[in-house]
Amino acid sequence: MKAVQFRASGRAPEVVDIPRPEPGPGQVLLRVTAAGVCHSDITIMGWPAEQFPFPLPMTLGHEGAGTVAEVGDGVTGVRVGEAVAVYGAWGCGRCPKCAVGKENYCLYAGELGIMSPGLGGPGAMAEYLLVDSDRHLVPLDGLDPVHAVPLTDAGLTPYHAIKGSLPKLVPGSTAVVIGAGGLGHLAVQLLRALSPARVIALDVSEDKLALASEVGAHEAIPSDEQSAQAVRRLTDGRGAEAVFDFVGAQSTVTLAGACAAAEGDVVVVGLGGGSLGVGFGTLAHEVSVRAPYWGSRSELIEVLDLARAGAISVHTETYPLDQAPLAYERLHEGAVRGRAVILP
Ligand code: NAD
Ligand code: ZN
Ligand code: ZN
Repeated sequence: MKAVQFRASGRAPEVVDIPRPEPGPGQVLLRVTAAGVCHSDITIMGWPAEQFPFPLPMTLGHEGAGTVAEVGDGVTGVRVGEAVAVYGAWGCGRCPKCAVGKENYCLYAGELGIMSPGLGGPGAMAEYLLVDSDRHLVPLDGLDPVHAVPLTDAGLTPYHAIKGSLPKLVPGSTAVVIGAGGLGHLAVQLLRALSPARVIALDVSEDKLALASEVGAHEAIPSDEQSAQAVRRLTDGRGAEAVFDFVGAQSTVTLAGACAAAEGDVVVVGLGGGSLGVGFGTLAHEVSVRAPYWGSRSELIEVLDLARAGAISVHTETYPLDQAPLAYERLHEGAVRGRAVILP
């Protein structure tokens, strides 16, 4: 089967032919219908060879959707032909975190060598994807796979990030979204669907600011040295009750800190490598800073329900599998509007 692999440090992803996997006991083989292209892949592929934590070559793709092609012995939770989305943050399934569905924070995944598809294990950018357990699958129930597949990360990650700040996003409050790309354009919609907060989007690209306005941002302003002042001006000096940074660079986490109101939240989602100091007088009083990873199994079910209700929708551009390397190039250049989706 065809697959898109990251094969060696410093090399672009390549389309290769590899054997089609066979499902063992408990496993499910999916015929992949769609796979999303996340900026994290570009960050990971940029890590130096000596720090690269995963075995190579690695089939990319941690956002996956497919139809069940074959099931291994003992699988009873899904049937052949069923259309599903893949919950990608695989854990042990038994520890206290996994027991409440937070497999993204599994206590033992590392020591047990459990790796997510496309983040260590073979990913969804291939004709077939082997899924270790039917508990990782959520029925699409009528959702179109192309528009649903980004919800497994670009939707789920901001959903989890925003949910943690909802108690602060009361009427009259403000939320800032830094970076209106794949995750950010969904964050704007999630904020509008889940809270009465006024939403201010910041980006360096005019086109992304236009997209942010299109999907519901009340204000869309350039991200630069003036942005914190602009946010203060728009909030009568008080700042934002929650700031979500989908870039995570040093400049944007500093900006995020400067935008936060007293008792506000700064949520660093982007992998840009920046960090924000916390200490008396460095930020407004009692600002909380957190850096979440992905989301839980039940949160993915909730995100898909929101999409089915029409409250959120993903802007996508599609590419055949052979053109996945081009999709990565375009994402790297900032040219993708919404999410790029690969169709194997
Ligand atoms: P993307 O490329 O689709 O979007 C990034 C957006 O940020 C673009 O619109 C770009 O124009 C904008 N941007 C770049 N520099 C900026 C700046 N200085 N100020 C404001 N905006 C700026 O990327 P994506 O796939 O949406 O991913 C966003 C980030 O989230 C990446 O760093 C990715 O690695 C990370 N991520 C984290 C998690 C997690 O669990 N923590 C999960 C998925 C993705
Ligand atoms: Zn991702
Ligand atoms: Zn676990």
